[in-house]
Amino acid sequence: MSGTEPLGAIDRLIQELNRLPGIGPKTAERLAHHLLAASRVQVMALAEALRAIKDNIRRCQQCCNLTEGELCAICRDPRRDPALLCVVEQPRDVTALERSHTYRGLYHVLHGRLAPLENVGPEQLTIPQLLQRVQKGGVREIIMATNPTLEGDGTALYLSSLLAQSGVTLTRLARGLPSGSVLEFANNQMLADALEGRRAF
Ligand SMILES: [Zn+2]
Repeated sequence: MSGTEPLGAIDRLIQELNRLPGIGPKTAERLAHHLLAASRVQVMALAEALRAIKDNIRRCQQCCNLTEGELCAICRDPRRDPALLCVVEQPRDVTALERSHTYRGLYHVLHGRLAPLENVGPEQLTIPQLLQRVQKGGVREIIMATNPTLEGDGTALYLSSLLAQSGVTLTRLARGLPSGSVLEFANNQMLADALEGRRAF
């Protein structure tokens, strides 16, 4: 930042860009100047896209994935098996698993993982909605596809204890994924193998 002027429009933009992950002060400055030089149409399109993700995107009423309608495209798809649920931490994990083209069931997105040290408990996640879904009936198997990290494993363990008496088969992704790895970075074949080789919890 120049530091010679009060915090004007350019500095404000640099400050906001700098808050984004992976964008340091230098990159923020470069992006800001790129936008300054871009056409009004291009910049307004970016502003509109930013506004739309906050105004139009909400959680699917069934699986809590992000969607623009009441139900997401996956929940609306009649070819998918509604008796099979795959529990993931984040919407981006759904994207990763869908890319592997192996899974034909539905999902449940927790929007995080249990992290006692950060005060993230079951109520901050969509665990109550998951339990309601199971109580409604019709679920045969739940695949715990939380990340193979300490907290991801802890979350899967917690869910399995909650669902132990539910009569639903509980499985965990096969250990093909290196421990500590994050689902969204796994390649398609690794994810396909992890799904195919899932084991009873
Ligand atoms: Zn959905």
